[in-house]
Amino acid sequence: MDLNNGITIIGGGIGGLTVANALQKAGFAFDLYEQAPELTEAGAGIGLSNAALDILDRIDLGTDVRDQGVSIKNVYLADKQMNIRRKLAVRLDTVCIHRALLIDILKSRLPAESIHLSKQAVDVKSYPDYAEILFSDNTSIHSQCLIAADGINSLIRTKLYPEIRIRYINQTIWRGITKLEVPEMMQDSYVEIWDEGLRFLTVPYRPGEIFWLAVKTAPPGIQDNPETVREELLDLFDNFHPVIKKMISGSQGYLRNDMADLGTFRRPWSHNRIVFIGDSIHATTPNLGQGGCQAIEDAQCLALCLKSFFPDVEKSFSTYYRLRREKVMSIVKTSWQFGRAAHSRNPVKHYFYRALLEYAPAVLLEKQENKLNDLTYLEEIHENELAYTTTK
Ligand SMILES: Cc1cc2nc3c(=O)[nH]c(=O)nc-3n(C[C@H](O)[C@H](O)[C@H](O)COP(=O)(O)OP(=O)(O)OC[C@H]3O[C@@H](n4cnc5c(N)ncnc54)[C@H](O)[C@@H]3O)c2cc1C
Repeated sequence: MDLNNGITIIGGGIGGLTVANALQKAGFAFDLYEQAPELTEAGAGIGLSNAALDILDRIDLGTDVRDQGVSIKNVYLADKQMNIRRKLAVRLDTVCIHRALLIDILKSRLPAESIHLSKQAVDVKSYPDYAEILFSDNTSIHSQCLIAADGINSLIRTKLYPEIRIRYINQTIWRGITKLEVPEMMQDSYVEIWDEGLRFLTVPYRPGEIFWLAVKTAPPGIQDNPETVREELLDLFDNFHPVIKKMISGSQGYLRNDMADLGTFRRPWSHNRIVFIGDSIHATTPNLGQGGCQAIEDAQCLALCLKSFFPDVEKSFSTYYRLRREKVMSIVKTSWQFGRAAHSRNPVKHYFYRALLEYAPAVLLEKQENKLNDLTYLEEIHENELAYTTTK
């Protein structure tokens, strides 16, 4: 049997590309297989919090991300007429960047010969000593260490753990990008609006352009009609400030997603020689903007575990799981609760959360920010050159 020498990665999204960089830095050879004909991402922005940026620094990509993104200074909570209810300073380094630029940066240092495009995994077999992947072009590979980074609809997870199901929160989110000179406060800050059972978030990601997200309660599975979606969104946000309506009307396209996660019940993150990272095993609703950040943290933690324990793959996987699970599950849970409260039909619950955001002592919110950005769990695997150090 021809066993692939290095590590195999399935999926070339944020998680797959970050783990490729982290493995490369740790001295491993890898082969990455992506179903799409090119490595790129949807036309939208993505927020990266301090811990994710810290890891990108460790794999030498942080400067490029900061250079090509916008540093976020504040979060404003506002009502639909843009009256500011609260201003919260973002104390820790946070950047928003176009997703396609992030992917370009993540692939920029990887050897082209290790990236295999138009390779869709269609079946997987897991044995104690190796994994076998079959692709849609009828080729197959065998690997002694396979990383599944194939996203929330993971084929590999569905084959190995069919009991893990996607859980919908009954909220739909639209994303758009608009060329628009926005008020000064929007140019380096998030503005989050909760009103009339709707949410609208503005995110700067490039001078002269603004990225926005809009959320409403809706069952999953509804498709937009491209002919009418602009008018429908304008109707929905009809009573909102004119600048919000300008953002909606000026967008070239509208990405629509049903918000979902994989729940918080305990599940394995590996199976024999296969290990999962990112959305494939712990997708989270986007309320905290953390799914991509957690995929980046997984990638670094897994690479460090492999560096420390390889060829003991089992120990690498179990250490990775032990170090990562608690933080990730807490984020998935908080994000779900936040989304439920923001759109709760129970006015008491809704107003309680809103009041919490508006009036909670800053120290409480800072505690939450510190928790999200905590990387001390990596100290346990501290001893090599890639390891996290607290001296930074
Ligand atoms: C509206 C919205 C806003 C968000 N905002 C943020 C934010 O601000 N900050 C943040 O950190 N996160 C955010 N997220 C979450 C973030 O986008 C995801 O968590 C992140 O993209 C997960 O990365 P991943 O690599 O695990 O999976 P994915 O990005 O889904 O990548 C999976 C890759 O695997 C490939 N693939 C899938 N199946 C196969 C197969 N069978 N064979 C080969 N290849 C395959 C796919 O083509 C894809 O390239 C948001 C999500 C949404 C929906």
